[in-house]
Amino acid sequence: MTTFKELGLSEALLLGLADLGFEMPTPIQQQVIPVALKSTSDIVALAQTGTGKTAAFGLPLLQRLQLGQKHVQAVVLCPTRELCLQVADDLTKYGRFAPSCKIAPVYGGAPIEAQIRQLRAGIHVVIATPGRLIDLLVRQALNLDKVSLVVLDEADEMLHLGFRDAVNLILEATENRHSLWLFSATMPEEVRTIARTYMRNPIEISLIAHQQINADIEHEYYLCRPEHRYDALKRIVDAHPGIYGLIFCRTRMEAKEVAERMIRDGYSADALHGDLLQSDRDRIMQRFREGHLQLLVATDVAARGIDVSDLSHVIHYSLPDEPESYLHRAGRTGRAGRKGVSISILSPKMEERLRLIERRIRIAFTQKAIPSGAQVCERQLMYIIQSIRQQEVQREQIAPFLPQIYEALHELSKEELIERFASVEFNRFLAYYRNAPDINLNTRFRRSENANRAELTHKDKRLKASQRLSINIGQRDGLYKSVLLDLLTHELCIPKHAVGKIEIKHNHTLIEVSSRFAHKVCRGLDNFKVQGRRIRVESEYPLNGRKAAVKKGRERTSKAAAIL
Ligand code: ADP
Ligand code: MG
Repeated sequence: MTTFKELGLSEALLLGLADLGFEMPTPIQQQVIPVALKSTSDIVALAQTGTGKTAAFGLPLLQRLQLGQKHVQAVVLCPTRELCLQVADDLTKYGRFAPSCKIAPVYGGAPIEAQIRQLRAGIHVVIATPGRLIDLLVRQALNLDKVSLVVLDEADEMLHLGFRDAVNLILEATENRHSLWLFSATMPEEVRTIARTYMRNPIEISLIAHQQINADIEHEYYLCRPEHRYDALKRIVDAHPGIYGLIFCRTRMEAKEVAERMIRDGYSADALHGDLLQSDRDRIMQRFREGHLQLLVATDVAARGIDVSDLSHVIHYSLPDEPESYLHRAGRTGRAGRKGVSISILSPKMEERLRLIERRIRIAFTQKAIPSGAQVCERQLMYIIQSIRQQEVQREQIAPFLPQIYEALHELSKEELIERFASVEFNRFLAYYRNAPDINLNTRFRRSENANRAELTHKDKRLKASQRLSINIGQRDGLYKSVLLDLLTHELCIPKHAVGKIEIKHNHTLIEVSSRFAHKVCRGLDNFKVQGRRIRVESEYPLNGRKAAVKKGRERTSKAAAIL
């Protein structure tokens, strides 16, 4: 094993690492750091989440700075505000003993003026979200002419979130750079395109190819109708008492919704997503790490950086787009030789994606039946019995109460006692599951599902025409196409193909959207604010053929809306 010192890091950085308690470099650090220190080549580095990529680029980045020169020398792009703050914080810690090094995080959703002032103070490294960096460039608050190093961190997530145009612009604005480093957990086509377009003979360091398919993980899936997914989740969780796991959702909205419902239904659960303050994230993570929370509902981006190693289950409430991401999610369980289970809850539509994952990463999935009410009750009962068997008894503390307890229970036989103890918890499940229907998708149902779909397609054809919607937010408010597209596709779950041309004007924006989704867009956008201004939506042409602009889209009047 090579030590950090042997990798060629400076004394100041070694002190910082010792202070953080980093003893040995992780594999990706071992491979990237020496290359990044010695050559100016472009680098593509691929490694799973949680493998220490921040230090892999952060340490050589810091060491390459010319601290005497007071201009921006390195730019790190991160997909979200949280990651931006986290990377800035990590780099500041590594560089603690090189005090003249100035690092500034800049990200959207915070006042830009304060960030502009900060940048004027002679910053060496800017850690930015792509949208905000463009904003700062437009305002000429930042000069990137002398940037010699650009790092794309979590490149896959960044492009996945719709920042492609912004990233392209930034890479064009930093043409004078010597090196471009791309760090990612997966290598989807759009990341490959960036590498092909902007890199010259990059050195590729990939720990993904060597990544063994972990044989300790079982891959299971359950099929149900889309509207039964939440019930299926509950049954699965109830049938696994003692579960300690992560539940993955595709969007923040979905994660929030699932967590809120679980909390309401009495589960020990919480959500981790991009809308939270860092302090809330930390608090939730701590509760989860210490086992006070059994279930954490998270989006893929938010789950990056979760460093909990003894999870019993990973549940995919929604499957990820990329097969590699599935592997990452699943890899959160089955660690350190323990067994783990990765569970997907699927509607029939999603089954195709599962097959793709199966082919692409060559793992076998086993279909399981969603437990019936009676099965859930049985599992819970046996769990209660096991816990009673294993219950530690504080003999001394309980002794003084025993006479009273014996007195109160003396009329009950052993059999009666057992029945009653077991019923304390069990009755709750029994009551809940008394008339629980079978929510498994059987073949008979599947046929009718297909018939429904065929009907929908027919309706679709009739309603194919698209609608132009206008919103009261534009360039003036700092709106970007990528941000809007992200909002539409990720937050509101509008399929990409349903969104047409987007024209951002000075004080308003026109969005072309398939009629089928026009109502959903109207209703959904109404919940969001840009720079403190509530978004108002108007459809240029009436949604329902009558001459009335639909404001806020509250009314479900249109034909298009009726089938949504
Ligand atoms: P990634 O970007 O690959 O997902 P991070 O850089 O966020 O991973 O690192 C994951 C965790 O591992 C962090 O908590 C970080 O502090 C820790 N870590 C990174 N490198 C080391 C190391 N060499 N020794 C100990 N802990 C490390
Ligand atoms: Mg990272």
